[in-house]
Amino acid sequence: MNEVKKPRKPLLYYYFVILIVILLFNALVVPYMGQSQVQDVDYGTFITMTEKHNVGKVQIEENQIIFTDKNEKNISRTGVVNDPQLIERLYENGAKIYGEIVQEMSPLMSILLTWILPLVIFIGLGEMLSRKFMSKAGGPNSMMFNMGKSNAKVYVKSSDGIKFSDVAGEDEAKEALSEVVDYLHDPSKYQEIGASMPKGILLVGPPGTGKTMLAKAVAGESNVPFFSMSGSEFVEMFVGMGASKVRDLFKQAKEKAPCIVFIDEIDAIGKKREGTIGGNDEREQTLNQLLTEMDGFEGNNGVIILAATNRPESLDPALTRPGRFDRRVPVELPDLKGREEILKVHAKKVAMDENVDYSKVARMASGASGAELANIVNEAALRAVRDGRETVTQADMEESIETVIAGYQKKNAILTDKEKRIVAYHEIGHALVAARQTNSAPVQKITIVPRTSGALGYTMQVEDGDHYLMSKEEIENKIATFTGGRAAEEVVFGSITTGAANDIEQATKLARAMIARYGMNDEIGMVAMETVTNQYLGGDTSLACSEATQSEIDKKVIELVKKQYEKALDILRNDRKKLDELAEFLYEKETITGEQFMEILNR
Ligand code: ADP
Ligand code: ZN
Repeated sequence: MNEVKKPRKPLLYYYFVILIVILLFNALVVPYMGQSQVQDVDYGTFITMTEKHNVGKVQIEENQIIFTDKNEKNISRTGVVNDPQLIERLYENGAKIYGEIVQEMSPLMSILLTWILPLVIFIGLGEMLSRKFMSKAGGPNSMMFNMGKSNAKVYVKSSDGIKFSDVAGEDEAKEALSEVVDYLHDPSKYQEIGASMPKGILLVGPPGTGKTMLAKAVAGESNVPFFSMSGSEFVEMFVGMGASKVRDLFKQAKEKAPCIVFIDEIDAIGKKREGTIGGNDEREQTLNQLLTEMDGFEGNNGVIILAATNRPESLDPALTRPGRFDRRVPVELPDLKGREEILKVHAKKVAMDENVDYSKVARMASGASGAELANIVNEAALRAVRDGRETVTQADMEESIETVIAGYQKKNAILTDKEKRIVAYHEIGHALVAARQTNSAPVQKITIVPRTSGALGYTMQVEDGDHYLMSKEEIENKIATFTGGRAAEEVVFGSITTGAANDIEQATKLARAMIARYGMNDEIGMVAMETVTNQYLGGDTSLACSEATQSEIDKKVIELVKKQYEKALDILRNDRKKLDELAEFLYEKETITGEQFMEILNR
């Protein structure tokens, strides 16, 4: 597999090299060319040298005399004096008179010699070298310098021959892409029947779900070259370069067909074009070039373009219309089974204890992406090394889930005694409210060690499996659970803290979604009042309703959250004894597991 990479050498680097070459040239070469170094001496010295037979060649000019020593090495110059016997004397002493010994260098000539000549030599050499590399670039292991053109690229043979089996889970995506692999293996089958492969396939999904891996795997399975470039690379460097980079990329791809061209972060160039003044010209030019290139080649020439994005909705419609990126392959966050498989794939690379329960770890890491799961395994291995163990244990894995998701433990962040007590109650508040509502998932573990992410406590809720549907009651219970932290503060201390900011945000989001998107409010009914604009990055939404409806929705959201907060307060007031007991345990031990929690609760 070949990969195209941009060498990390900016233009400045080349300027620097040129400067060095010129300086070296001046220091080493010029002095030797330079019998140009003429020494000035007085007339007396000249005469003395003559009389001592120390003068070689002599050139007499109108206003100066230039002469060499006997060995004809050093050149000297002296003024002309009215001396009629000079010629005679010179002949007597064995000097030879010439019409011209040295051509004095004019300033122009010296600039030419010291600055321009080395440059010419240097560029000529560069050209020669680059030709040499170009002609070799046909082989699979070749490197290619493409200097002087719009961009410099280096092909390196990719060492990571990734196959589909390296990508765990994502079965639907793999199935969709296996058709491409089949096509690249044997295009004639498709050509005979007159079917053409889509030119562009869009891999869509949240960050870290393996889109890049899948694209590489397609190349690996088909055993074809892999060209990759990131959308942001196209536009980051110099004005006007983006479009020519696209041109170059496609030119090279066509030469190497069949091959895979992978464009990561295509939204960086493919964002919707706006009619506003002062838009990003550079980006639009690049996008236009991409569209032109995609239209310019036939569907069956063996170049398949894969592109990845986590913002499909922001792409320009021109990019997604038929004939361009008309096929979309969703690459979703892994489900429980997928997470377990990903963990196992990455666990193969480290020395794992036999007793590690991958299914449990996968369950604990709900919502984690493939990249996060890979990170969890690595963190666990690092932890094992730190503790001087030879294998990675279940405890390592569990601790590293918290590390990856909530950040490292902040060793020197010290909570005051009062704060620690409040945090303990707050976290137990969440857990107790969750546990007392039959439909809510039980807690797996709570810790109140401050994390580098800024969280003071961390509650890990465990779900038995993946849920695809949530009932109205379940969402309401969830909102109640989110408010449980604040409720505990209020019940126990009679005062409230800033610690609930994140809970409030999440509760509000859920409540708003219930009303504006899920049609779970009787008065509003089944009308979509907001749409998700950013499905894969946090799920931002935008409202699509009149102002009057908006304030109506706001009122209902407030009402809904308030009602759940009251419910949470009720639960905690009725369970005050358990609340104290559990909070005390957490305060003392700083961590409580699900089993300990349930044991105290059912005592
Ligand atoms: P994306 O391009 O979707 O942001 P990547 O393909 O770059 O994600 O994945 C980043 C890393 O996460 C990979 O190098 C790999 O270690 C891990 N990873 C992600 N998804 C998977 C998966 N399905 N199977 C195995 N590893 C995965
Ligand atoms: Zn909270």
